Amino acid sequence: MKALIPITALVVAASLLATPAAVGAAAVRQNLHSGGAASVSDVRLMQAHAAAEEAPTANPFDQRRDLYDKLSSVTNVDWSWIAAVDQYERSMSKAKPKAHPMLGQIAGVFVEPERWAGSLNPDFDDSSPVSISFFKGIGKDGDGNGVAERDNDFDLLYSLIAYMGASGTTDERFPSGVWDYYHNSRAVQRVQQFAAIYKRFGKLDLFEHAFPLPLGATYSYKDTWGDRRGWGGRRSHEGTDLFAGHGTPVRSTCYGIIEIKGWNKFGGWRIGIRDLNNHYHYYAHLSGFDKTLGVGDIVTAGQVVGWVGSSGYGKPGTSGKFPPHLHYGVYSDRGLLEWAFDPYPMLRRWEQAERKRTRK
Ligand SMILES: [Zn+2]
Repeated sequence: MKALIPITALVVAASLLATPAAVGAAAVRQNLHSGGAASVSDVRLMQAHAAAEEAPTANPFDQRRDLYDKLSSVTNVDWSWIAAVDQYERSMSKAKPKAHPMLGQIAGVFVEPERWAGSLNPDFDDSSPVSISFFKGIGKDGDGNGVAERDNDFDLLYSLIAYMGASGTTDERFPSGVWDYYHNSRAVQRVQQFAAIYKRFGKLDLFEHAFPLPLGATYSYKDTWGDRRGWGGRRSHEGTDLFAGHGTPVRSTCYGIIEIKGWNKFGGWRIGIRDLNNHYHYYAHLSGFDKTLGVGDIVTAGQVVGWVGSSGYGKPGTSGKFPPHLHYGVYSDRGLLEWAFDPYPMLRRWEQAERKRTRK
């Protein structure tokens, strides 16, 4: 039963809804329950409805930021942590759409029914905050409409953030709450990495990419996915070799955070950068790095991080066992494992996009 919805909750809910049509539906429901007499809240709701209809197609980043800011004000958790948890959840939803589907419209969150309602709850579809709390489910009523809905953006993200923030909401304490929720150190690392990226830039729109080599340089590459004759990937040859002169700048292809930097027997001097899609970008056989950069530092797409070389296949410093090239690999984090995927099509896309941008 959710016929009797408090007016204030509806106004909050309406302001959170994505589409004018959805706001319209909320307004219609409101009119039915108010018995026809237009209250102050009715007028406010109609005004909100009209504004939503006039608004241009809403930017998904603006919608998310609005949701995070509202959640931040009720949970006292910084928006960057909320954004990081949501983005981690979204990356899992993208990597495993069947096992981890997005349940809301704006938030990327998935929660299993039994976790939401409580594993001993006889009704896994329970939306009563009282009985869910009794059965120790994590589901909460965030928007104050009296029900804890597993498909409501505000309730979903509020439930996760409230759970994680229970042992403290500061930058020092919040990660232990993230551990309590996921029991997975990789998940904690991701959320910390994403929060650091968001804090540094202060915005959510950080998905532009760059080609790893300057377009003006002389280079060549082809689709060598699965090619056994390639030189030194992270595991087998998983990636694309871009041949270029020794010392050609190597640029980060994404906004991200440096996860690994140093020597690897096969990769030589290599650097690994994590982006907000939870993709790990791996650059190997470098002749050297930008000395000012270290693990945990944030980079922008197009920023020079090192230089093309032929390092690898031996003790630290070994070089010249093959022609200089950049080995570039991309791995997708699926929660417990990482899977390499062929970067060649993306490289072609980024190269073309950059060529178009520079022609203007
Ligand atoms: Zn390679």
